[in-house]
Amino acid sequence: MIKKLIRKILGTKSKAARDANTPVVLGPEAHGIDPRLLSNNAVRVTSTLQEAGYEAFVVGGAVRDLLLGVKPKDFDIATNATPEQVKRLFRRAFIIGKRFQIVHVMFGNDLLEVTTFRGTTSANAPKDEHGRVLRDNTFGSQAEDAERRDFTINAMYYNPANQQVLDYHGGIEDIRAKTLRIIGVPEARYREDPVRMLRVVRFAAKLKFSIEPETGAPIKVMAPLINNVPAARVFDEMLKLLMSGHALACLQQLRKEGLHHGLLPLLDVVLEQPLGFKFVTLALESTDARIHAGKTVSPGFLFASLLWHQVLEKWEAYRAAGEQTIPALHLAADDVLDSQTEKLALQRKIGSDMRDIWAMQPRFERRTGKAPAKLLEHQRFRAGYDFLLLRCASGEIDAEIGEWWTAFYESDEASREDLISSASQPSGGGSGAGGAAKRKRGPRRGGRNRSGRGGEGGGSDGGGDSASHDGGGD
Ligand code: ATP
Ligand code: MG
Repeated sequence: MIKKLIRKILGTKSKAARDANTPVVLGPEAHGIDPRLLSNNAVRVTSTLQEAGYEAFVVGGAVRDLLLGVKPKDFDIATNATPEQVKRLFRRAFIIGKRFQIVHVMFGNDLLEVTTFRGTTSANAPKDEHGRVLRDNTFGSQAEDAERRDFTINAMYYNPANQQVLDYHGGIEDIRAKTLRIIGVPEARYREDPVRMLRVVRFAAKLKFSIEPETGAPIKVMAPLINNVPAARVFDEMLKLLMSGHALACLQQLRKEGLHHGLLPLLDVVLEQPLGFKFVTLALESTDARIHAGKTVSPGFLFASLLWHQVLEKWEAYRAAGEQTIPALHLAADDVLDSQTEKLALQRKIGSDMRDIWAMQPRFERRTGKAPAKLLEHQRFRAGYDFLLLRCASGEIDAEIGEWWTAFYESDEASREDLISSASQPSGGGSGAGGAAKRKRGPRRGGRNRSGRGGEGGGSDGGGDSASHDGGGD
């Protein structure tokens, strides 16, 4: 009851505030932020700016996380100082960005992004034919800056000096009600920047917030606008989504909203095949678990997993058309990587990591002679092996192969020799639960392709680009 009353009071106040362009101000007892969750460097930046006579606040996702009692992973600062003025105050500060300049302030390895309040001039800003804002780089007041932000919960300002939160759009109320609400008219905001639709999905899944109906309603219809966004930006946002620690929930939500079509072509098809679905689900679960355990996740591994069943399908098609196993796999990889670059600008390094991981897979089936020891030396072995285990876990290939490799990987020299001599292939080794394992054995038994492309290193892409593995898996 009391909660309801507070919400009511705050609600009315915030509506009034919106009209007046003045924020609701909350003191420490009202917002309950634990100042220990703040980074010293964030306080250092705001106090330096304030001592020089400027306004400065922690803003955006960091305030949202502080209000949720979560330690923010990074801190963004908003100020009325211009980038030049900010730069002058810090020893290691760099102005970056063409579209809109921001300042990166560094303390050791810690990077803080300092942004000058942005103005709301989108009505006059240049746009593409679909209404997407192309350039928009005017400075403005704090109220304007708040209005330009995406969601009410991302548009609050915290001043560490007096511990006040400034809330222009009823964000505190939405945080308490666990609601994701876009600021302004949803259709207009998605048109200006379709990436906001992906952000809705990410925040809803990550924070377990519900999407306010008006915020959610236009997404299904407007989803195709994602196609007009530069691929590099879509990639950045997809990566954030996949690395959020809630990748599985995010992808499920993407499907629900019909947003997956434009993002990873054929992902919908993959998800509808039982084996593909299981594989992607396992891959995302393990990614989420790694993030929660504070481990790194390699984007190459992630995308290699998401697209593996497409590779399998094409690999099969090339072999059916008479290609030999290894070249067929490379052709399939080429096709899949090419088809992605249009919508999702996979960076070259990520593409080459993906190719390495895929190309290593048939090599796991050779368990005689020196082949296993050689494979173990591959710089991306760990990623390829983790990938193999996923294939086993999903039922695509026989679990016995994974178990053998685990034993081999963990053994000393002598036991490795025993393992090789006891390797049951080519006749044994299990029949493979899925068709893929059986299919793969067919051509290999003929003893061809051993010296084929991808027989070493697995990183060649036919373009003269020598393999550029450099770990990153663990
Ligand atoms: P995370 O914790 O995942 O970093 P975040 O909210 O900090 O979440 P960022 O991408 O770091 O997300 O953006 C920082 C802030 O910038 C947001 O909180 C929001 O206020 C604003 N912002 C970011 N992207 C957009 C956008 N596309 N449209 C409007 N505002 C945005
Ligand atoms: Mg952030």
